[in-house]
Amino acid sequence: MRQSRTHLTRRTVSLAAVVALTCGLAAAPPALAVGEGPGYGGNETVNTSILRTYDELVAELKTQDAKQQAMELEVIGQSVKGRDLYLAKYISDPDNPTILFLTQQHGNEQLTTEGAVEFIKHLGTGKTKGVLDGVNVLVVPMLNPDGAMGDVDFPLDDYIADGGRHLTRYNANEIDLNRDHVTKIQPETRALHENVMSAYDIDYMIDLHHQGARSERDGELVSGSILYPTTPNVDPDVLEGSKRLGAVVFDAVDPTGWGHLGKYVGGTAETISRNGIAVEYGISTLLFEMRGMSDHFNEDYVLGQKSNGYLIKQTVTTLDATTRAISDGSISGADTSFWDTLAEQNVRGE
Ligand SMILES: [Zn+2]
Repeated sequence: MRQSRTHLTRRTVSLAAVVALTCGLAAAPPALAVGEGPGYGGNETVNTSILRTYDELVAELKTQDAKQQAMELEVIGQSVKGRDLYLAKYISDPDNPTILFLTQQHGNEQLTTEGAVEFIKHLGTGKTKGVLDGVNVLVVPMLNPDGAMGDVDFPLDDYIADGGRHLTRYNANEIDLNRDHVTKIQPETRALHENVMSAYDIDYMIDLHHQGARSERDGELVSGSILYPTTPNVDPDVLEGSKRLGAVVFDAVDPTGWGHLGKYVGGTAETISRNGIAVEYGISTLLFEMRGMSDHFNEDYVLGQKSNGYLIKQTVTTLDATTRAISDGSISGADTSFWDTLAEQNVRGE
């Protein structure tokens, strides 16, 4: 994730600059290659109609709130276009350690939200019995609903996906919310900071994103990549917590048949949540960038729905494993040495 503060529209910048502004690619993409993995490239359609709309998300959250005694649903603010922003919270004991899961700051990165909803449903079943006794869980799903619904004040005509709806990275003002964590000018970012970050004593945060579809580690396309805060201003103990959080995620995801994680290549800017929130609040943060976006104008970034199943599962696995490891205290013994050997991802062909 590059950290340019300059906001440019896609119509006025070179492809390389667009790539630099786009989640998950460290360099310009290669010429389009076709047929490697379940990726878009003419081999399958990218259809957004199977993704939950904002209204469907809200309906599901309200259904779960009515069903689950341990859950509380709260409105933390409104988007530029007036959509309510939600926090789903499970606070069994204010003295418990607390983890926050944040999804879809970038509106075109929706499978993380789909996974978060599945996780919320999962918390309402007997499968997680007792887990919530030892941990408080906060979930902010779809922080950027206007971008997710394509309800924005700039054109999306050249976006690729079919399905009656385009999804874009930016909020309705064409601002990247994940570059707004210092100034907090946008209503979505302000709501998050005022009514979540400042309002709760949070120990851990996972910020869930999607990156381009062509990142690989050790010659194999990744299912995702992870990274801890890399600003020099982060407290060493906070950084160590982030590395342990990453260790729990890596151990839960990478050994599965479908999981293959790389080390994300990211900058030091504190305008992005991974760095800024770690410094401002002393929260151990982890960035998780999953493979492929739900929609984009660049075909190297989008990923067809054939991959939805494992990417949603990757989110649920991540949220479940970290919640359990914090609840039972095993996170304190997580082995962070894998970070020393985990290869940074590269873009296939470069
Ligand atoms: Zn993103």
